[in-house]
Amino acid sequence: MGLELVLTLEGKPIFSAMEVVHVSAECYPVAKAGGLGDVVGALPKYQNKAGITAKVVMPMYRTSFLYTSNWVVDYKAKAFMGAWEFEYTIIKEATGKLGFDLYLVDIHGLLDRQKIYGYPDDVERFTAFQIAVVHWMSHWNHRPSVVHCHDYHAGLIPFMMQHCYDYQNLKEVPTVLTIHNAQYQGWMGWHQSELIPRWDLSKKGLLDWGNCINPLAAAIKCASKITTVSPSYMRELMQHANGLESLFASEKNKCVGILNGIDHDVWNPATDTNIEVVYTVNTVMEGKQKNKEKICSQYGLDASLPLFVFIGRLVGEKAADVLPAAMDKAIQTYGARASYMILGSGDPAVEMALSKVAARYNHIFRVYIGYNEILSHGLYASADFLLMPSRVEPCGLNQLYAMRYGTVPMVRSTGGLQDTVVDMGDKEGYGIRFTHANEKDIVDSIGRAIDVYDNKTHLLWMRQFMMQINHSWDQTVESYTRVYKSI
Ligand code: ADP
Repeated sequence: MGLELVLTLEGKPIFSAMEVVHVSAECYPVAKAGGLGDVVGALPKYQNKAGITAKVVMPMYRTSFLYTSNWVVDYKAKAFMGAWEFEYTIIKEATGKLGFDLYLVDIHGLLDRQKIYGYPDDVERFTAFQIAVVHWMSHWNHRPSVVHCHDYHAGLIPFMMQHCYDYQNLKEVPTVLTIHNAQYQGWMGWHQSELIPRWDLSKKGLLDWGNCINPLAAAIKCASKITTVSPSYMRELMQHANGLESLFASEKNKCVGILNGIDHDVWNPATDTNIEVVYTVNTVMEGKQKNKEKICSQYGLDASLPLFVFIGRLVGEKAADVLPAAMDKAIQTYGARASYMILGSGDPAVEMALSKVAARYNHIFRVYIGYNEILSHGLYASADFLLMPSRVEPCGLNQLYAMRYGTVPMVRSTGGLQDTVVDMGDKEGYGIRFTHANEKDIVDSIGRAIDVYDNKTHLLWMRQFMMQINHSWDQTVESYTRVYKSI
């Protein structure tokens, strides 16, 4: 069990390091489905470097990280979810290799599966996970300074800490909710209220939103502070939040938008072991070309052409449904003046439609359906342009990784994309921005991109400029520290 660091002078405490417990469903490299994993894998590491004792607790899935790491049992106990008494075990990574203490919650038969999400019993899985986390913390011999919950999978925790009779010793511990994606809220029917350990029934209204138990809404109501992963996304949520707009508006005084950083240790073209040739600001032109030659020879594309890539979940938020027609139209419009590659998975109809376009033009357009972390690094390093037509983008990390690798981001002006990308037509601009997530805007933007690709002086300037933009975690860590101190 974690011990609080307390320095004493003649037996009296003089300094106590702030201790933050991050609760999340994902954390890179343990288990990642998207940006949530990247953030929870990096933020605690940089917080520790800044002198905060930050730790992560997450479910124990059967991922390769589990089998290739060393573990010690930290705690074992039984808790109730409804009438079901279950045993949980907290294991801790033994070497500290991630730069923070990592704890996994093992609940046999429930959490120990290969995928993170997508099971019919996800409500029970994540509710049991949260019960185990709160139960475990309530048995510590000290209180953490802050419990930092990420997305709806940890959304019941602030409520449980305050209103479940068994966890009253955590009542005064401040909580922060960070919203990485407000589309998913973890809705539960009221018949599932019995899963939550004995709670003060007069607080029913804190769990309810639209006659459902809504874990994300409950966290927005109960957490001491709410953060989103970019300032623009916070503003947008007041207008579009999948039904929670009025809640955000009424809680706006405790909301703050903090832009994500990127992990420069993991995403660095000068040291990345996942790419063919490493490169720096000074060698970006040759470096990217060599990486492009490797990828293009692997996938049968022409490395002398500008390479456009899309990396991400093939879902409506990312406007992936527009891609098949947009790719088709771009290929018809610009012919063999560019190559395209898509890496992603998601909606089966989109996967199918993209594969059909790829089958028609397979010397120009390739699709890799699936999740492939190594290929994603290869694509950031070899692509000339990264396409992100997202309808909703809370922060977006892909465009930040692209910039770090000298790849020009092509983004729809929304959320974090609008906070981080300056159009090349504007002063010191290095990206391409467009307004609509539709075929026309995507095809027109590809035209602008092809033109700038031919202007090598401008291209070199943009690449070098964006590679030097500082998106490190240092500033972000400071903003979170201010939030913690305020509560
Ligand atoms: P979101 O969290 O909404 O999916 P973000 O832009 O915040 O979007 O983060 C996406 C992260 O997931 C990035 O690290 C990106 O490289 C990665 N990613 C998404 N899809 C894939 C995929 N199919 N293969 C490898 N990495 C992927």
